[in-house]
Amino acid sequence: MAQSDAVIVHAKRKLSQTSLKQYPLSHTVRHTTITLLTRKLALSNSAERSTTPDPINPKPSHPPARRSVPKAGSRELLEELQRQYQRAKLFSEVTLKIRQSLNLKEILQTTVVEVQRILDTDRVLIYRVLPDGTGQPISEAVLPDYQAILGMRFPEEVFPTEYQTLYAAGRVQAIADVYAPQSGLAECLVEFVEQFGIKAKLIVPIVFNLDTELPANHQNHLWGLLIAHQCRGPRQWDEFELELMQQLADQIGIAIAQGELLENLETIVATRTIELQQANANLKQEIADRIAAETARRRNEEQLRLITNALPVLIAYINTKQRYQFNNQAYADWLGQDLASISDKHLKQVWGKTCYSRMQPWVTKALAGETVTYENEIQLADGSTRSVDITYIPHYATTPAAKHPRSKKNKRRKIQGFFALTSDISDRKAIERMKDEFISVVSHELRTPLTSIHSALKILATGRLGDLSNDGKQMLGIADENTDRLVRLVNNVLDLQRIESGAVTMDRQICDAADLLVKATEAMQAMAQQHHITLADQPMSMPLWVDPDYIVQALTNLLSNAIKFSPPETIVTLSAKRLNATSNRPNSVQFQVQDHGPGIPQTKLESIFERFHQVDSSDARKKGGTGLGLTICRTIIEQHNGHIWAESTEGQGSTFIFTLPLLQPPATHAEDDHES
Ligand code: ADP
Repeated sequence: MAQSDAVIVHAKRKLSQTSLKQYPLSHTVRHTTITLLTRKLALSNSAERSTTPDPINPKPSHPPARRSVPKAGSRELLEELQRQYQRAKLFSEVTLKIRQSLNLKEILQTTVVEVQRILDTDRVLIYRVLPDGTGQPISEAVLPDYQAILGMRFPEEVFPTEYQTLYAAGRVQAIADVYAPQSGLAECLVEFVEQFGIKAKLIVPIVFNLDTELPANHQNHLWGLLIAHQCRGPRQWDEFELELMQQLADQIGIAIAQGELLENLETIVATRTIELQQANANLKQEIADRIAAETARRRNEEQLRLITNALPVLIAYINTKQRYQFNNQAYADWLGQDLASISDKHLKQVWGKTCYSRMQPWVTKALAGETVTYENEIQLADGSTRSVDITYIPHYATTPAAKHPRSKKNKRRKIQGFFALTSDISDRKAIERMKDEFISVVSHELRTPLTSIHSALKILATGRLGDLSNDGKQMLGIADENTDRLVRLVNNVLDLQRIESGAVTMDRQICDAADLLVKATEAMQAMAQQHHITLADQPMSMPLWVDPDYIVQALTNLLSNAIKFSPPETIVTLSAKRLNATSNRPNSVQFQVQDHGPGIPQTKLESIFERFHQVDSSDARKKGGTGLGLTICRTIIEQHNGHIWAESTEGQGSTFIFTLPLLQPPATHAEDDHES
């Protein structure tokens, strides 16, 4: 060999050829065939290949590899063409084999086996360049006579960074004799190759393209090397062998890129599959939850219906539009309407205009958030009229804020509707009426004999019918006092019964609040003096539309109690004032009787207005009361559309307060009358 044994070809291959998009298989094969043929023809026409200096490897250039260049004879040329065709065919077959797999390990193994077979060389391996500079043969085809080096880890010194840069730029190294001085092999590497009996070697880089936007030598990533070793002796590597190695290294580059892409795709598909499976599982869970919730809701509703249908009361839920959202069987039974037909009907449609007009104010209150109870008269399907007791309980939306009782938002809870409970109280009413009638009859029957007993006792007390002993006089006094109380009790019972039953109508007229105060004070003056109480009134002139006798009766009742329960030498004040527009009861006059007596416990402030209720059960005896005074007062005030209540601080005194509407224009009077 006149020239060097080594040929270093710096192939300025377009490494972007490794890019997938440029490599349909048929194109690769055709391209290879044409390249090989063209090169051979070119070589046949030139004596020697030019030895252009290698810009990357500045070592002395080596003579080109041995080439079997045919002499200019058509037969030889034809034979050469034939040979080249066979080789190109062989190459395409190998490429096809490589491409048949998507498994990189399999591709690498096929490559080394095929290269070893075609080149008939002793060892072919794929050396993986690792990121830390070290490396490792990861595929190997080696003849049995030679040492296998698969899996051995080689230090960075064996393959320094400068070499890596050169290979990344496309360097191909063909060394025919590693011991020849022209091989240019570093001393340490000679020792290294000796270790594995290497005599000649051919190295091509396996690179793959990272980013096609960048210039070629910036894009290439040195993945590894495709290496052929000749161990049985030195070997000249010819052009075809170089081409074959390069093309196969390119194919490996493509396979790696494909593998990465596939891996990426597989990762994406796997991630998406997991996401979809998760979404699917969530969806299934949600559907299952909804079905379970719906089943539970149905079951609850059925249970609720079962319970509510068994009760002899009307139970319903009405929304803010005053439409039925739920109603029990009793509705159908009482009203003769189809159970389902009531659903979503308006209150007015179900009850009729007249009945609804009585309900409406209470419905408005319930929808404003107030729990209300009232009595009403309803007409049933059979035409009978029933007295009913109705309770409306507002229902608030269960918002997250409402779950936290201390939350400020809690105050702004939204009304969703109200529960309505209607029970038949006709029987109770009938009994009450009977009782009232009975009391009325008894009282009437008692009043006449009582009056005569009372008169007889009074006459006896005068002594006109003879003198009595002191004990007799004392007995007569007790009898007189008790008869007096009995007469008052009978009168009170009759009064109350008459007012409540509507037997007496309030004879309303225009009155002055000041006049009423003065009349009541005058009436109670004697009793006040008897108890050493000072009556102080603060009359204020305000027009009222009331029955003056009944209002004076209410005032005198309150004054009488105040005097009775006050210690001597204290003041009882009677006053009246007009309530302003911002108060709870605008357009009203507020009357007030205040004393400095023992006061009333908070727990009794309401119950003392009920019949026969007293703070202390001995009050009736000690104070000569009947327990009916406040009940009569409340009945009178409510008949006038007013309100009465008591306020008290125990040990300091009590204040009894009632309000009456101010004189209204005539139209309003008529309305009041109608309502009352
Ligand atoms: P009575 O005829 O017993 O006074 P009332 O209905 O007028 O019946 O009063 C009921 C009860 O209320 C009284 O028995 C008493 O216990 C209490 N009461 C009423 N007014 C006063 C008052 N000014 N101070 C203290 N207790 C009072």
